[in-house]
Amino acid sequence: MDIIETVSNGMRGYNKFSIGKSECGNDILCVHRGGYGGKQLIIIGGIHARECYTALVVLEQIAAFGTGGADGAYFIPLVNPDGALFFEKGDAQCSEFLARHVDEHRAWKANALGVDLNNNFDANWGTGAQNRRSPYSHGYIGEYPASAKEVRALVDFTLNVRPNATISYHMMGGELYWEFFQTGERKRRDKAFATALADYIDVRRVDGDLGSAGGYKDWCVQYLHIPAVTIELIKQGSHPFEAADLALEIPLNAGLPRYALSVLKESEQGK
Ligand SMILES: [Zn+2]
Repeated sequence: MDIIETVSNGMRGYNKFSIGKSECGNDILCVHRGGYGGKQLIIIGGIHARECYTALVVLEQIAAFGTGGADGAYFIPLVNPDGALFFEKGDAQCSEFLARHVDEHRAWKANALGVDLNNNFDANWGTGAQNRRSPYSHGYIGEYPASAKEVRALVDFTLNVRPNATISYHMMGGELYWEFFQTGERKRRDKAFATALADYIDVRRVDGDLGSAGGYKDWCVQYLHIPAVTIELIKQGSHPFEAADLALEIPLNAGLPRYALSVLKESEQGK
């Protein structure tokens, strides 16, 4: 598969736009569906290179979302296109760093500069249990928060949209993470949101921060004070995964954006 081409083709017919460019100059594409007057979601996939087929889950959600209603969602299937191309084909593109690590491309998570994008957000940055201090296939936090072009683009876009919740797709584990030092009413609200989503797609809700730091979910919770979840698809197996390994997850997750919006509205009415 060529996931970059698949994503671009899968967004054809919708009003796709770029939220910014990757380190090697690939567009990070986005589609909005639904209305703008109601609640808004941001859904991302493919922030980790070897998890790039999560983009297929997001593409299916675009098709399933339909039109109508005031609520809407922004879909960003592939946040790390450079990493995805390297994972799939060993193509280092603009990156001398990747060119020196072609042997490791099937295990790659980072971007073209060896920054782990899901460790580069400004949320207790650099305190994660698995953090690294120099470029690597995974775990490198970057020179400073949001130093990676892909992260800067996603941060700026998210601040523009000010979504009511975000969903991030990873693999693997069959789990959903939601907690990042929330307390009180926000903790109760976010736990209820997480429970509903985990039940809907039949994954296990995992409580606790578990040494996480610098992730998109972490930043959304800490900085925007919104419910944000990380979903780890695929219950068993080992990397590297193929697109076909998501055959069950793609239909199971297709309706999740609409469902998540309904949960947000119910929780507001229940206050
Ligand atoms: Zn991941």
